[in-house]
Amino acid sequence: MNQHAKVDIRHSTCPHDCPSACALDVEVLEGRSIGRIRGSKQQTYTAGVVCAKVARYAERIHHSERLMYPLRRTGPKGSGQFARISWDEALDEIAARFDAAEREFGAESVWPYYYAGTMGLVMRDGLNRLSHVKKYSRFYATICSTIARIGFTVGTGKIAGVDPREMGVSDLVVIWGTNPVNTQVNVMTHASRARKERGAKIAAVDVYNNETMKQADIKILLRPGTDGAFACAVMHVLFREGLADRDYLARYTDCPDQLEAHLKTRTPAWASAISGVPVEEIEAFARMVGQTKRSFFRLGYGFTRSRNGAAQMHAALCIPAVTGAWQYEGGGAFFNNAGIWRFDESIIEGHDAIDPATRVLDQSKIGRILTGDAEALKGGGPVKAMLIQNTNPMTVAPEQALVRQGFAREDLFVAVHEQFMTETAQMADIVLPATMFMEHDDLYYGGGHQHISVGPKLIDPPGECRSNHEVMQALGRRLNAVHPGFDMTARELIDATLKKSGHGDIDTLEAELWRDLQPDFRTSHYLDGFAHADGKFHFKVDWGRVPVGSGGLMGAWERMPSLPDHWTIIEEADEQHPFRLATSPSRSFLNTSFNETPSSQAREGAPTVMIHPEDAKALSVADGDPVTLGNMRGETTLTARLFDGVRRGVLIAESIHPNKAHIGGRGINMLTGAEAVAPVGGAAFHDNKVWLRKASTLA
Ligand code: SF4
Repeated sequence: MNQHAKVDIRHSTCPHDCPSACALDVEVLEGRSIGRIRGSKQQTYTAGVVCAKVARYAERIHHSERLMYPLRRTGPKGSGQFARISWDEALDEIAARFDAAEREFGAESVWPYYYAGTMGLVMRDGLNRLSHVKKYSRFYATICSTIARIGFTVGTGKIAGVDPREMGVSDLVVIWGTNPVNTQVNVMTHASRARKERGAKIAAVDVYNNETMKQADIKILLRPGTDGAFACAVMHVLFREGLADRDYLARYTDCPDQLEAHLKTRTPAWASAISGVPVEEIEAFARMVGQTKRSFFRLGYGFTRSRNGAAQMHAALCIPAVTGAWQYEGGGAFFNNAGIWRFDESIIEGHDAIDPATRVLDQSKIGRILTGDAEALKGGGPVKAMLIQNTNPMTVAPEQALVRQGFAREDLFVAVHEQFMTETAQMADIVLPATMFMEHDDLYYGGGHQHISVGPKLIDPPGECRSNHEVMQALGRRLNAVHPGFDMTARELIDATLKKSGHGDIDTLEAELWRDLQPDFRTSHYLDGFAHADGKFHFKVDWGRVPVGSGGLMGAWERMPSLPDHWTIIEEADEQHPFRLATSPSRSFLNTSFNETPSSQAREGAPTVMIHPEDAKALSVADGDPVTLGNMRGETTLTARLFDGVRRGVLIAESIHPNKAHIGGRGINMLTGAEAVAPVGGAAFHDNKVWLRKASTLA
């Protein structure tokens, strides 16, 4: 950095797909470029801490390989051969291809596709407005949070919980099914504070001895998909040993006697056989939870990415209801705060233009959809044209073999609006260069905390990059899409959304930097009753009557257990597939964001799979050997890493590396499935049976 450069410290909010949504202090150099980024010390959840990958964001925003100009494909699909064109040429061609598809095959043959590459409401969700106004196929978002959300909601009645800053005044922080050292570092800030200032214990429940578990005092190492069994045995011990809070149960829960009777057979020995956790560890954990009033359950997404994920979330959530931990400061549970924002996104998304008759296509089933699966297409015609923003399905979507086959279709027109030449952009007909968050205005919320904020434009974008909203406006004009949202600037959309949501206006929020929307203590702890009509926490669930999204009920919801249990629907290992694989998040990539930055690439190295040394020995696999994993969906080849921090028979591939980084070019999602997880959809990324063999060649 030029020592004499003029440096302004400006506020922003991290836009990435991470519950921390950190408040940022950004060095803006000479009004033109970005220097160091630090976490805001004033914002009490961020508390001065950001992850390393965003601290060094300058290498991403000023990366020499950013897309700068619109491009048109000149060679075969996927060849990487493109030529520069003007914005007018690019937009005219997209509009012409969309109109042609609509004329020949109907409006539903166009499928705008997006996701969480940015979490700003305007830039993330604005594509829905185009879909709604034009009656294109609608988009059902399932790839991330549907499973976890429904599993929490059925217990409390609402996706909201204890103020996550209360982890700092807890006596036991249970970090369950999430690895915040890698994925939301601020959880560790508050949990560590409790340990330092109060002597609190940190417990980690997970499928491998990850970076969070390494820092924990109590380590519960499970087989994937067995958290429900473990939770049931913990509650069995709580009832058996008089550690259940019967007064709390009687006042605040729906059927404690039924639960207690049901759990009689869910013994530690039963759960140990399923989960691999020794009986004495289950009992010790239960006693600690039962004897520690201020036990804070920080529940994550990871353990819900399983075919039984919603039931698993609900089972874990039942524990603090049995102990009555919700009554105490520093006690209770938290997963996400989606229930407190009350954002009215009707202008951004064009809710008034929704035609319920248009089909809704499941994001996770993109491979099946693009290859003509009648069920995935909802009985309708093929998808013929797409515009993709903020996501990289060629790498992140399940059933990659089908996704690749689909994007290779010559009759499919694809436009991708991106920051880098991702593996999806390489398959496109038209590629458009996109802004990054400090180059446009947007509105943010923190899923993992309680603040909303405006992230303002701080610098001009490079080259000819345009924001998602600018592209929506330009396409809207060409496609005769009429809606007030197309005529408003991003700032006007933010302002209108804040006003409609009862959150004031953009100028006020910008001046405040952020606003803390945490409900009061009694509400956050459900001391005046839970959010169900009967005011009770629900141990018993009627899965056929849960709140559903536009996709309706899905999967084997009729077979879900009504009381907390181990639901055996998971993809168990078998003779042909003796291993269970989880594709857990790496530290330096965020899905596929950051897998273009040199420091993240250097830290993550080549794709590896962790395997227990005894399993490796049985297969004559040595550390560093190339190994191929496979199942009925496909194969991928990576490097074996011997690691005794997993149960026998469990494999962990920290992800998501580019497909091309894998030996042979096939990525980890060759192995993952897209069948809908009950009851409202989702993808079971950590629930895969696979075989493993030593790769014979490096090709
Ligand atoms: S921890 Fe998450 S929200 Fe915070 S800076 Fe890193 S990626 Fe962004």
